[in-house]
Amino acid sequence: MKLANYVYGQWVEGAGEGTALTDPVTGEALVRVSSDGIDVAHALEFARTHGGAALKALTYEERAAKLAAIAELLQAKRAEYFDISLRNSGATEGDASFDVDGAIFTIKSYARAGKALGAARHLKEGARVALAKTDVFQGQHFLMPLTGVAVFINAFNFPAWGLWEKAAPALLAGVPVFAKPATPTAWLAQRMVADVVAAGILPPGAISIVCGSARDLLDHVNECDVVSFTGSADTAARMRTHPNVVARSVRLNVEADSVNSAILGPDAQPGTPEFDLAVKEIVREMTVKTGQKCTAIRRILAPAGVSRALADAVSGKLAGCKVGDPRSEGVRVGPLVSKAQQAAAFEGLAKLRQECEVVFGGDPDFEPVGADAAVSAFVQPTLLYCDKGLAARFVHDVEVFGPVATIVPYADTRDAIAIARRGHGSLVASVYSGDAAFVGELVPAIADLHGRVMVVDAAVGANHTGHGNVMPGCLHGGPGRAGGGEELGGLRALAMYHRRCVVQGGPAVLDALSRDAVDAALLGA
Ligand code: NAP
Repeated sequence: MKLANYVYGQWVEGAGEGTALTDPVTGEALVRVSSDGIDVAHALEFARTHGGAALKALTYEERAAKLAAIAELLQAKRAEYFDISLRNSGATEGDASFDVDGAIFTIKSYARAGKALGAARHLKEGARVALAKTDVFQGQHFLMPLTGVAVFINAFNFPAWGLWEKAAPALLAGVPVFAKPATPTAWLAQRMVADVVAAGILPPGAISIVCGSARDLLDHVNECDVVSFTGSADTAARMRTHPNVVARSVRLNVEADSVNSAILGPDAQPGTPEFDLAVKEIVREMTVKTGQKCTAIRRILAPAGVSRALADAVSGKLAGCKVGDPRSEGVRVGPLVSKAQQAAAFEGLAKLRQECEVVFGGDPDFEPVGADAAVSAFVQPTLLYCDKGLAARFVHDVEVFGPVATIVPYADTRDAIAIARRGHGSLVASVYSGDAAFVGELVPAIADLHGRVMVVDAAVGANHTGHGNVMPGCLHGGPGRAGGGEELGGLRALAMYHRRCVVQGGPAVLDALSRDAVDAALLGA
């Protein structure tokens, strides 16, 4: 079966053989995708003129109601999505939930938050600016929805959440969506879009999807569009320098890779709640989605005196995790999504091993439960130990996109700060400490290089939302190497789909324009 693309209000099959999507446990080809022959310029123009205009005729609260209907629909079809996740991504039930339920939760969150914007169609920002001696001539800042398309070029690891965490704020803003999921796992995103289209929830052109190569997509975006990219730093670099993106100053948001840290404070000694909470979270981050999360813990910074005890504790828990075909009883860790990803992980691991000791795992010949190692894409969960601190090279630069993390002992707080900052910009750091002085020194010193810092102590205990979990109400994105993008953060996400314009004129003109507007301060509320 070849998956069709949804463009210009029609289902269109791409030309030629296309590319096969496979089951990473059995190697079986499942479906094919092709974007060949799709008229992308026409598809984008159709989305702008039909989808954009129809969405903008609605108010924020009417669009929020559409999001609620989408969430309800996806919820009803959840079991089908779990099945696709299992077959195409090798996802355990927990992994599928992370992606699918995470998507539904995020849409619901925007449906709820969007209601607060009421019957408005744009945003008014701040007070009038005095520009003359009397109030005869003033300025007013507005945030107006973009008249273009929101183009989403997404990574393979979150086919559901990756689409909807971007689509929910875009649709709420009144901007149509054009999705280009990553080829290896495009099936789930395509099925979800097909279900939403079939249900007739959105006006024609409000959502489009093309599976397969992006081909000439970036040649046809313009200054009214926004391109939101999630994927590797290498692909991001190609996008930033794409001649059409540069020439037309196309707004580009980048969520790239990141070598995230977990940091144990000096008080997180074995036997303390902070130590135990760190161990639990490290194991969870290494195993959920088999470590294929952009936010996963890659480096574990521990006081030199506890780093060995930490290595033992984490190894002990990893030894209890059954790795294999998620269809087999008791399996907790599945494969990577493809043979190509497995090869990339082995390559990264080989680099890390040049400067690390293997504490747990790392066996290229290990036997997954219920699967043939020759055709499947498994990587054994692997814990490494690197005593070179800042002098290490690969540990701070290489993101192994799989179940691999490295313990890096630190000497003192200054050293811990320097090592965390050596990630050159990360999505998240989590800190396990009840030592107020340590937290008070560390957090401000790393905050400018991290999109999110999660601090866990005994009082927070099990109530935290997780190192790797991206909450719709909180910012997702990170500076530097992580791409410099910003997503989510509640209604703050709408800013990317609006453009600021100050209108200067008489009070009657400004009053008339303000009638259809709601206070932009609500975005940060
Ligand atoms: P990737 O190879 O960079 O691909 C990402 C997307 O870009 C895919 O849809 C891909 O399409 C497309 N693409 C590739 N070349 C392109 C080009 N020249 N023009 C336009 N589109 C192009 O990344 P990936 O391997 O799918 O994802 C893994 C990476 O994503 C990891 O490094 C991870 O850290 C990062 N990630 C980051 C976040 C975050 O929020 N920061 C979230 C998840 C993942 P094809 O698949 O068709 O090639």
